[in-house]
Amino acid sequence: MDKIRIGVSKCLLGEPVRYDGQHKHNHFITDTLGPYLEYVGVCPEVECGMGVPRETLRLVGDPAAPRLMTTRTGIDHTERMQTWASRRIKELDRENLHGYIFKSASPSSGMERVKVYGPKGGIAGRAPGMFGKLFMEHFEAGKPAVAIRTTTHAFWRDKTFSPTYFGLSVRFADALRG
Ligand code: SF4
Repeated sequence: MDKIRIGVSKCLLGEPVRYDGQHKHNHFITDTLGPYLEYVGVCPEVECGMGVPRETLRLVGDPAAPRLMTTRTGIDHTERMQTWASRRIKELDRENLHGYIFKSASPSSGMERVKVYGPKGGIAGRAPGMFGKLFMEHFEAGKPAVAIRTTTHAFWRDKTFSPTYFGLSVRFADALRG
């Protein structure tokens, strides 16, 4: 059987691409779902040229259209991320992806409910991460799906695909309960 192709935030695969050179390896993704899926790993911050290590980022401003800024020095990376994302999403469209698993809470990769900070530093609202938002707008035929524990969110583009299809419903439900 051909494996189902799924995009995934690269740090969840155990790749050391986070700002501090660490990862967020999710063993449910690699060990439980992995045998059934073929992953296409993406790290928006590294791929748009920010490097490792790097300063942390956050969303700032209007929650309807936040900017992507470095936390300490206030450098605005919005255009850089948007330019890269628009090119990369076109490439991903040719990868025949059935879905995408996003690292939650990331200002770049998050699928939803990422903190947006106001001018005085308080939380002004919530929004998708910058890459996550552009990705989902592009693949709008899909359906936002589920949280796996509290660290990830998944978006299934192909509604005929679900973990249940692979007999993984019980394990998946366990993971959902965290
Ligand atoms: S959350 Fe996204 S941008 Fe951050 S390290 Fe993981 S893949 Fe890279």
